[in-house]
Amino acid sequence: MTAENEQALAVYKEKVAAHLSKHRYEHCLRVSDYAVKLAKQNGVDVKEAALAGLVHDYAKERSAADFLEKIDQAKLPASLKKWGNPIWHGVVGAEFVKDELGIKDPAILQAIRLHTTGGGHEEMTTLDKVIFMADYLETGRDFPGVEEARSLTDQSLGQGVFYQLAHTLSYLASKEQVIYPKTFDAYNDWAAYLQK
Ligand code: GDP
Ligand code: FE
Ligand code: FE
Repeated sequence: MTAENEQALAVYKEKVAAHLSKHRYEHCLRVSDYAVKLAKQNGVDVKEAALAGLVHDYAKERSAADFLEKIDQAKLPASLKKWGNPIWHGVVGAEFVKDELGIKDPAILQAIRLHTTGGGHEEMTTLDKVIFMADYLETGRDFPGVEEARSLTDQSLGQGVFYQLAHTLSYLASKEQVIYPKTFDAYNDWAAYLQK
């Protein structure tokens, strides 16, 4: 990162830190760093990747009441209200980033919206894939298979996306948790695309 890029990020770092616990803020810094690494490997604008990574979980610690209010205010579909923080902090979180941090770049806002569920292979830009994978692979992550997922993603960003979708789906099902339809759709779309 150039000094100029670091300076541009500094303002946002303060604002993100003010809204998150130390633990969550440090995760955001690591996602930003990992996103820069993947951006360089995949020809993505490093500045955009660093910023999207930094702010991706900006709204993670907001209350349910805050999310419900924002869904109305931003005129998002009311059907979103039956979900919870795991889905809201990305899809609705992008609205907080836009309104409170003043980040209007649609590419960054889309990467935030898709960072938990992913999206279809044509829907996801390279930046979206970079943020989706940086969140999963940042250096503080330590789950069985993380090293395999890191090396697969170094070889092919798309294979990494599919690995994460498959493993997150089976993890959620093993815990008998509700699964957001977009996560299923993304999995099916990538499976067809990769001819699984
Ligand atoms: P984090 O915000 O850095 O913790 O990571 P994510 O934004 O990727 O995920 C937040 C949580 O949402 C994780 O516990 C995921 O397992 C969970 N998650 C991912 N997809 C779905 C889904 O389709 N439905 C539900 N209920 N949870 C999901
Ligand atoms: Fe998240
Ligand atoms: Fe995250």
